[in-house]
Amino acid sequence: MRLAASGETSRVVTWLTPDHGRLATLLKGALRPNNAFLGQYDLFYTCELLYYPRPHGDLHFAKECCPIKLRTRFRSDWVACAQASYLTDLAMRAIPAHAPQRQLFLWLNHGLDELARADFTPSLTIWLELKLLDILGLAPRLSTCMTCHTPLETGRITAHFSNERGGLLCPRCAHNDTRAAPPLAADVLAILRNWQRAGTSSSVRRTRLDPQQSAPLEQLLGQFLRFHLDMPIPARDIAFAVARRG
Ligand SMILES: [Zn+2]
Repeated sequence: MRLAASGETSRVVTWLTPDHGRLATLLKGALRPNNAFLGQYDLFYTCELLYYPRPHGDLHFAKECCPIKLRTRFRSDWVACAQASYLTDLAMRAIPAHAPQRQLFLWLNHGLDELARADFTPSLTIWLELKLLDILGLAPRLSTCMTCHTPLETGRITAHFSNERGGLLCPRCAHNDTRAAPPLAADVLAILRNWQRAGTSSSVRRTRLDPQQSAPLEQLLGQFLRFHLDMPIPARDIAFAVARRG
């Protein structure tokens, strides 16, 4: 959800919906005292929305909305709030207007639930990024060399990451590829593989990263997302900067 003022008393709210993708509605009179919309919507809420579609316009008319999830943690925990802002921004960038993307709606709805839990950790964002890449069909390939298909599952083999190739390269192929990154530390690669396979957040919440692990993970996913979404993601830099200070 994204909020903007419209006139003196109305608001434009952008929603992510399960069946109609991203859409914007006008909440007429929403800023007037005693208006029926008052307290019924806010950033990071999940709501039931009733609206009148305008067939030839991009701004529809909201009739009613009712909150289902409030996620009040984001009002008091600024580190979690910055991560939630980044997650919604990422969803907005990844989803075109009016394109039904139920899986992406479920990803954001679930992701905000995960960030709103009491045992929040900023590492959850990296796990949620991996889940998003999976939904978009862009999951990095982490088991074999992208060029020669040599298995790289064993921790004894050094592997390099390539944004352009969408996964790992063995040392021999990386040597011939000027765009390949320096070798990935074995423990960082193991965490990445583990989180990519993890269907729930429990292993992510249990993992305590030291800065030598969190920094390369954060950097690797950031570069990979920017490369494949082909756009800057300023909210990501803010979210991780707030997490480092928090
Ligand atoms: Zn190779």
